Amino acid sequence: MTTYQIAGLPGDGIGPECFDAAVQVLRSVERHSGGLRLEITPYAAGAEHYRQTGVALPSEVLDQCLRADAVLLAAIGLPDVRRPDGTEVQPDMMMGLRRAMGLYAAVRPVKLYPGARCPLNTTQAGVDMVILRENLEGLFASFGGGCQLNDVVATDTLVITREGTQRIAEYAFRLAEKRRGRPLDGKRRVTCVDKANVFRSFAFFRKVFFEVAEQYSHIEVDAQYVDAMSLYMVTCPSDWDVLVMENQFGDILSDLGAAIVGGLGLAPSAEVGEEHALFQPSHGTAPQLAGKGIANPIATILSAAMMLDWLADRHRDDDARRGAQLIESSVSQFFKVGTIRPADQGGTASTSQVAVELARLIEVNSGINK
Ligand code: ATP
Repeated sequence: MTTYQIAGLPGDGIGPECFDAAVQVLRSVERHSGGLRLEITPYAAGAEHYRQTGVALPSEVLDQCLRADAVLLAAIGLPDVRRPDGTEVQPDMMMGLRRAMGLYAAVRPVKLYPGARCPLNTTQAGVDMVILRENLEGLFASFGGGCQLNDVVATDTLVITREGTQRIAEYAFRLAEKRRGRPLDGKRRVTCVDKANVFRSFAFFRKVFFEVAEQYSHIEVDAQYVDAMSLYMVTCPSDWDVLVMENQFGDILSDLGAAIVGGLGLAPSAEVGEEHALFQPSHGTAPQLAGKGIANPIATILSAAMMLDWLADRHRDDDARRGAQLIESSVSQFFKVGTIRPADQGGTASTSQVAVELARLIEVNSGINK
């Protein structure tokens, strides 16, 4: 039996509700996936913690995140909690975690579950792509830096390095090897998304990407400009498999991706490095929904499934893999059957009702799959 230490960061706003729902589903997975055990320890960090103590991410919490087998985070930040300079605590805390844990790859699946609300009418073949966001460089490398000259001009510098680009491009091809290709025809395809026609930095990103691609001749490659890509994601969403891009572009396109498959309440993410990984929904703290019990917890629950999948790869653990598959198939069934629906999907189910139903489906599916 393997026991994994999971550092939990429930955070702010709807974060704690979504976190509790994910833990409830993980407990059901533990009961039905053989020898998997998760010791989940929640830690106080985030905007509310900053309001009370003046510190958003205590150093002992960061230490626990570095020591844990994985980190499960729900959502951080509150718009009314600000530092003396007027900035929110969320960017600082997330950049701190990413840099300390070396989380260079943000993996954002854009998958349409049949039955989920979809604003597009062009998805006969389905939508199942991944936005792979370089997570430490690009425009965000300037975070904490930047420059303002008097009250006249301000700059931030976009940074692209050979090492960072090679690393994320290699991740993209390895990810494509694990997947089943694009929905249209099953072709494995990695697309570099950039603005190489205008900026040297992106021309360099594309050049290094194609150098890496030479080692993966069994995978189709192409490159698209980010403005065109934002159109293609809407007009031909079944054509794409893995899209790899600079940090800021990934930040923007992943919200577009969430929108085309049912909204932020369904958009999970993994942030992965060589030694550490952190899993969190793509959404923020949605403070106007907090405490009402109507937030959709599925993005956090699917992030927990990505965590199990990552643990399965890292530790060659079939029980963790089975746990990830159980969550995935239960979410799929949840939408296919459609007995209950969360509020952001046009239904009336509460956060905890969604968790209870998913836990029930896991129990049912584990019997079927045994
Ligand atoms: P951040 O800046 O922290 O990313 P944000 O202000 O961009 O956050 P989110 O908190 O991510 O915004 O959410 C934007 C809107 O999407 C919310 O106001 C809410 O209407 C909806 N939303 C986000 N997450 C969920 C969820 N889990 N369930 C239901 N609705 C959600």
